[in-house]
Amino acid sequence: MKKGKIFVVGFGPGDRDHMTKRAVDVLQQSDCIIGYKTYVELIEPFVTAKAIISTGMTEEVSRAQEAVKLAEAGNLVSVISSGDSGVYGMAGLVYEVLIEKGWTEDEGIAVEIVPGISAINSCASILGAPIMHDACTISLSDHLTPWTVIEKRIEAAGMADFVIALYNPKSGRRTRQIQEAQTILLKYRSPNTPVGLVKSAFRENQNVVLTTLADMLEHDIGMLTTVVIGNSSTFFYDNKIITPRGYQRKYTLGAEKQSLKPHQRLKKEAEPWALNQETGEAQAGYEQIERKTQEASSLDFALKALSMVTKQEIENPMLVQQPIEDIFEFAVSPGVANKFITPEQMRILAEVIGETGTLEYTPDHRFLVKVPTNHPESMIEKLEQNQLIVMPMGDVLNLKACDFCYGEKAESIPYAEEIASKLGGLKLPKELHIGFNGCGMACYRAVFDDIGIVYRKKKFDLFIGAKPVGRTAHAAQPVAEGIEPDQLLPLLTELIEEYKQNAHPNERLFKYFKRVKKIQSFNYQDMSSKIEVEPAPCGD
Ligand code: SAH
Repeated sequence: MKKGKIFVVGFGPGDRDHMTKRAVDVLQQSDCIIGYKTYVELIEPFVTAKAIISTGMTEEVSRAQEAVKLAEAGNLVSVISSGDSGVYGMAGLVYEVLIEKGWTEDEGIAVEIVPGISAINSCASILGAPIMHDACTISLSDHLTPWTVIEKRIEAAGMADFVIALYNPKSGRRTRQIQEAQTILLKYRSPNTPVGLVKSAFRENQNVVLTTLADMLEHDIGMLTTVVIGNSSTFFYDNKIITPRGYQRKYTLGAEKQSLKPHQRLKKEAEPWALNQETGEAQAGYEQIERKTQEASSLDFALKALSMVTKQEIENPMLVQQPIEDIFEFAVSPGVANKFITPEQMRILAEVIGETGTLEYTPDHRFLVKVPTNHPESMIEKLEQNQLIVMPMGDVLNLKACDFCYGEKAESIPYAEEIASKLGGLKLPKELHIGFNGCGMACYRAVFDDIGIVYRKKKFDLFIGAKPVGRTAHAAQPVAEGIEPDQLLPLLTELIEEYKQNAHPNERLFKYFKRVKKIQSFNYQDMSSKIEVEPAPCGD
C-alpha cells in the first residue's frame, strides 16, 4: 500500500527568483519540510508548511530517516538541499535509507527528486561564463571521502584541463585541503589561471572575488564559497571570467576578432585537434596540450628527483603556461596585378609561416595563410616591408587585376591599384570580388566576378552580379560602357556603399541585385540560364 510521498527538493542558490516553480509548489503542498537549519531559514519566507523540522549540519542521516518515517505515516514530506538535491545533497541519502528498508518504487512510498540550480551554475553566472567547456565539481570535504581519492580527482582534473568547481573548499577545521588542491593544480596550470571565489551566491551576503590560482589563498574562502578554477584558455575580461567555447579561435586583420561562421566551424581545418574519422588518430594541432598534460605526471617525478639531487627547484617545462594561441588568418599576394614572387618574398613568407602555420593557394590568386599567434603585428610589418599585400580574410572586398599579359593593361593598372587601396579589405555583408581586366579581351574573366571592370579604349565597362560558383553559375550583367576613368572610383564607392548598407548578412551581390532589382541607376536583368537544375550540396 502506498503511503505519503517524499520530495527531495533542491531550492537553488537561496533566493526565490532562482527556485523552480516545481520546488515552490512542492514545498507549499508539503505537510512537513525537513532540512538543515540555515536552509530552512532561507526558504521559510516562501512556504507555509505545517511542520518545519530543522536539524544540524551533521545530522543528514537522521534527517533522511525522519523523512521516510513521516512519509510512511501518510505525510507529504519535503527534504531540502541547497542547489541541486542530487549534487552533494540529500537525494542519494534518502534513497540509501529507503534501500536499507527494502523499498521499491512499486511497493514503497512515492519519491520525487526536484532538481535545482547547483552552485557550479549559479556561481558561474555571477562570474561571467567560466564553465562553458568540460568541467567538473570536486568536493574537498574528506568527511565521507578519503583524501587520497579526492587528491587523485584533483590531479586528474588538473591534468585533463577541466574547468573545476570546488565545493566545500574550506571550513573552520578543514583548512589544508584547499592548499593541497592549489599545489596539485599548479603542476598543470599557469599560476595566472583565473579563479573566481563566490560566497553565498544570490544570498544576502553574496561576495565575489576574482583572483588567480597563485593568489587565491590570500582571500577569504569558507563553507559558503564555491571556488571556480578556469582551464588553460580561460581569461579575464571586464571583471568577468570567460572560458571560450573552443580552444582556438580564428581571426583576421581588423580591430575585432572574428569568430568562425556556422558553416566553417565543422570543417576539418578548423578543428586540427579532432579525432580523425578515417585514421582514428588525434591531429597534430592539439598535440601541444595533449603532450604537456600527459607527460606532466611522469615528468613531475623526474623533476622532483632531479630537484632532490641538485637541491634546486627545477621548473616543469611542460606546464600549460599559456592558452593555445589563436589562429590568425590573412591573404597574401605579390600585388594587385603581379603574379611574380621573388625568392626573398618566398623566404619571408616561409619564415612568417614557420613550422606551425599553413599556406594555401586560393582560386582568387592569393595565398591564404593561417598562423597560430596572438601578436600578428610584426608578421604583417615584415610582409609589407617586402612588398607583399596583406589583406583580411572573410567577408571583405578583394580586388584582383589580370596578370597574364603586359600589353594594354599597364595603363589601367594605376586605377586598379587605387581602387584596391581605397576599398580593399572593406568589411561587407558577404565576400565581394572585383575582377579588373586591362583590355577588352577580358581573358582574366572579370565578368565572372561580383563586379567586373574591363578597360577598353581608355574607358571602363562595368559588369555586376556574376554568380561565380554553383551549377547555376552565370556571368555578370553588363550595366555600363565607356565610364570615364575619373568616374570609376566614385561610382564603385557608391555602388558598394549601397550594397553594404542594404544587403542582408551573407547576401552576395548577385542575390542582392536580384532581390532589389536596381542598384544605383542600373536595372536588374536575369542572367541565369533558363535550364532548370536541381540544387546539389557540395560534394554530391
Ligand atoms: N547541493 C548543493 C551543494 C551542497 S555542498 C548544490 O548543488 O549547490 C555545499 C557547498 O556548495 C558549499 O560549501 C559551497 O561550495 C557550495 N554552495 C552551495 N550554495 C552556494 C551558494 N549560494 N553560493 C556559493 N556556494 C554555494
